[in-house]
Amino acid sequence: MNKLEFTIHCPVCHMTKINRSLLVNYQGVDHYFCSSQCLERFKSHPHLFVGDPKHGKSPKQKDQVVLKKRRIRFCDAISDRLKAELDASLQMLMGVEAMVFEDEDLYVTYDLIQVSLEDIEKAIEKVAVGFREGVVEQVKRGLIHYSEECELDNLAHLTKDGGCH
Ligand SMILES: [Zn+2]
Repeated sequence: MNKLEFTIHCPVCHMTKINRSLLVNYQGVDHYFCSSQCLERFKSHPHLFVGDPKHGKSPKQKDQVVLKKRRIRFCDAISDRLKAELDASLQMLMGVEAMVFEDEDLYVTYDLIQVSLEDIEKAIEKVAVGFREGVVEQVKRGLIHYSEECELDNLAHLTKDGGCH
């Protein structure tokens, strides 16, 4: 019955377990986050999470999900030990929905609103250091990062005419 009681949730992943020391003041409103990942995500793309009078609700406020499935190719078949470490590390990331390992490939499905391929790769590279498998296709992935950033800007109506396409 007590409607005055409200739940504070992380604006990026909507988890209610927020960390009160992770705080960003955006347009005069304090936002608390569950993790530094979500805080950084918010700082780089606030329009995905907070609406404005001109465009209305933000994509996240409309419960929009932008699922992506990418293949990340390793130089060699992924060993069970690396698989276990990757699995544990990527599960810590908000927005990673699924992982499938197939020989030297890792197929990862994620919500682009919450996490970028770049975040995922950073987590992978941290784990993969010291493993002979290594990650390849650096150049191609650089292009994907660029198109992901454009896609997010389009979602938040930030694209100027003739911008990212
Ligand atoms: Zn969060």
